[in-house]
Amino acid sequence: MKEKRLEEVDSQVYGAIQAEVRREIDSLVMIASENYASRAVMEAQASVMTNKYAEGYPGSRYYGGCEYVDVVERLAIERAKKLFQAQYVNVQPHSGSQANMAVYFSFLNPGDLIMGMELSHGGHLTHGSPVSFSGQIFKTVHYGVDPKTHLIDYDYVRDLAKTHRPKMIIAGASAYPRRIDFHLFREIAHEVGAYLMADMAHIAGLVAVGLHPSPIGVADFVTSTTHKTLRGPRGGLLLADETYGDKLDKAIFPGIQGGPLMHVIAAKAVAFGEALEPAFTEYQKQVILNARTLANRLLSHGFELVTGGTDNHLLLIDLTRFGLSGLEAEQALGAVGIVANKNAVPFDKRGPKITSGLRLGTPALTTRGLKEAEMEQLADIIKKVLDNPHSEATLERARSEVLDICRAYPIYSFWNSQ
Ligand SMILES: *Cc1c(COP(=O)(O)O)cnc(C)c1O
Repeated sequence: MKEKRLEEVDSQVYGAIQAEVRREIDSLVMIASENYASRAVMEAQASVMTNKYAEGYPGSRYYGGCEYVDVVERLAIERAKKLFQAQYVNVQPHSGSQANMAVYFSFLNPGDLIMGMELSHGGHLTHGSPVSFSGQIFKTVHYGVDPKTHLIDYDYVRDLAKTHRPKMIIAGASAYPRRIDFHLFREIAHEVGAYLMADMAHIAGLVAVGLHPSPIGVADFVTSTTHKTLRGPRGGLLLADETYGDKLDKAIFPGIQGGPLMHVIAAKAVAFGEALEPAFTEYQKQVILNARTLANRLLSHGFELVTGGTDNHLLLIDLTRFGLSGLEAEQALGAVGIVANKNAVPFDKRGPKITSGLRLGTPALTTRGLKEAEMEQLADIIKKVLDNPHSEATLERARSEVLDICRAYPIYSFWNSQ
């Protein structure tokens, strides 16, 4: 058996990984959907459990030798149940998209109507976009936000639901800076006899500690990722009432997936264990405080924010009147080591590859240890860079400030990177 180190075997892949470690150490991640998994999570994910086939569920597998992967899957399920007060949990979805697919395939037929949030208003591709399986297999109708307040217009959601009678309503977003009222969605779904699916991919970490109202026990199905605010390995998660369990289990396997990624499930168990610790609540409080501080400082610099601020871990700068596109802003900030993403703003006149918005999130920065003072410093850097995106001197000064912050708040010091 080959037991050489990656470094000796494959210099190309090894080199790219080392370069990625360097990039993560030397840049400030403000992508709202990204975070840094802990060393313990990554150790579990990089473990021998990647070798094991375990089709089926704990105690009922199609392969022998599953006694230890059963241990980690049971731990992951029990911990997730405790964390979210859920009756039924499935930790096998390979990603958030797979969790959504499993719900649709369990309770919908091809051609049924689903109703989700418009992508350009903050929704997700898997909520019925024509470029996703969800919009290709199912008919879709989209609700959006109010043109003035940019808040979800629940009256419009209700009217639309009454007119179209969808079989499933989807609540949840990738770029919505405010609280989502799952109870109102529940009422609306109830009025029209629709299922309600809540997709908490972005806010799961906040939900886990009670800093965003929980959709569990309110929506019929709750889906999530495990790698965003929840700070686990890249993956998906599915929660529901016990009564839906059998159908959802079968939809994941054998419906849409084969063998579960047992190394990732081991890492999910570790991450859920971390999330049950009191420190995780403190972390999420700081995530929100940081986002609010960043928002206020940006507002004081004259930036326009979608909805005027944030309740959660992210905010959206509307650059329409600033005279810069989202793409230009993303590139200018990228040049100084601030990694963020361009994002459509509601009623955006530019296409999705250019956009008029910039989405900024605080989960990764907060894991790194940054607090309010650094948020204000970052808002100041962002202002300077976006005011002068083509000034070499400005960019150079900003780059060195960013590097100073990175050095003051190091990550992955255990990693042997050159
Ligand atoms: C990120 C996200 C997903 C998809 O997660 P993947 O793991 O990338 O497939 C689904 N829904 C929402 C709302 C998201 O933000």
